[in-house]
Amino acid sequence: MVVSQTALNIAELIEADKKHYLHPTTVPKLFVENGPKIIFAKGEGVRVTDVQGKSYIDGASMLWNVNLGHGNKELAQAAYDQMTTIAYSSSFYGYSNEKAVRLAEKVVSIAPGDLSAIFFTSGGSESNDTAFKLARFYWDLKGRPTKKKVISISRSYHGATVSAGTATRIEGFHSFSGSKDPDMVRAKSHLTNCELGDRNDPNYEGCIRDVIEKEGADTIAAVILEPIQGAGGVHVSPDGYLQAVKALCEENNILLIADEVICGFGRTGKMFGVDNWNVVPDIMSVAKGITGGYAQLGGVLISKEIRDTIVQYDKILGHGFTYSGHPTACAIGLKTIEILERDNILENVNNMEKELKKGFAYLTDKYRYFTKSRAVGLLAGFELQQDREADLPFAETVRPATFVVEQCFKRNLILRAADFEKGKDIVAIAPPLIINKEEISEMINIIDAAMTEFEKTVK
Ligand code: PMP
Repeated sequence: MVVSQTALNIAELIEADKKHYLHPTTVPKLFVENGPKIIFAKGEGVRVTDVQGKSYIDGASMLWNVNLGHGNKELAQAAYDQMTTIAYSSSFYGYSNEKAVRLAEKVVSIAPGDLSAIFFTSGGSESNDTAFKLARFYWDLKGRPTKKKVISISRSYHGATVSAGTATRIEGFHSFSGSKDPDMVRAKSHLTNCELGDRNDPNYEGCIRDVIEKEGADTIAAVILEPIQGAGGVHVSPDGYLQAVKALCEENNILLIADEVICGFGRTGKMFGVDNWNVVPDIMSVAKGITGGYAQLGGVLISKEIRDTIVQYDKILGHGFTYSGHPTACAIGLKTIEILERDNILENVNNMEKELKKGFAYLTDKYRYFTKSRAVGLLAGFELQQDREADLPFAETVRPATFVVEQCFKRNLILRAADFEKGKDIVAIAPPLIINKEEISEMINIIDAAMTEFEKTVK
């Protein structure tokens, strides 16, 4: 009786989902035909369970955000304590609240260099839109109102709001609905050699330096970069790249925005992604890991120079979100950072990176199609290629990354495929930062089995 009742409830839930819930980043037509792939019910540590009771390792930390794993009671308690103290308080018109202040102070204390103030948002897209606005506003205040353009690089993901979506260089997101911020300019990423091309071509795309020269530094407010590109396929900045872009920005009076939405708060084994290269950006966007996914919170850190300039402004700052500095989200953020520091989570990330790399070495030896594995902390991935020696991809019809991710899913491991680009078949791995050695080997064993299955289809 209980079982059939549950089955009935699930069937009804699926029907309601198909009918009333328009899902983000999902194929609508397939969704209304097939319904949800999975309905998550609960989670504990690195594992999640669906409504049918099937358990999975969350090898993607959902959307690279559940950094402290699921079911963390301390974070829940921090939320409960705050919610029962005051439901919400505004940060507009000079109003403030203790948790937002304490979190601002804390984040600034762990942030690199002279980043000295934070503007709170509700997530990564809002953070990047805010970063663009603050960069443009800063130049207005400096008497340089022509500096409005923002350069972003190929394969970057910066969000889904109009400006962040335009800065995003993954087709589909970039052009969705045709709403665009006209002041976004694209440059080639560090994965591409820079041929100069024809600068009169409207689709001209050079490297950052060439784009600055072509557009004119006096029109450019900022360059935005992810220290390690996430959604674009876990592309790690080569050593020296961020330093070179920073120097280029300084040379041209352009602000450097680091999009730390994925990298921030320990994901890469350092507190922030830029710390891997000792680069201090002028502006830094954060979200996701700041609360480990337990609440919607983001923020934009600004350098002392930008902060000192903005605080001279004597009119209302025409920017803000209802949930900027939400006390519950900030209480969770504070607790998240406390746990990261108290439990030496970064040390675990660095140790688990080594375990993951051992697993990658084993898979590289065993499978000729397994290649280009990388891991910086627990931001990791590998590629599938027809001929890795010759750097030859599989034919477009093969979709090996999607196949391997599906095979892992069947074996109760959730990973993510990044194969939106022709010739790039990438599997991304980003488990919660609290993962242990046994759980890493469980993941590797599942990938091993999925690769065996894939090999069968190729032979
Ligand atoms: N920047 C990066 C690097 C991201 O990965 C994401 C989200 N995947 C965003 C920005 C946007 O964040 P949100 O979805 O919270 O708006």
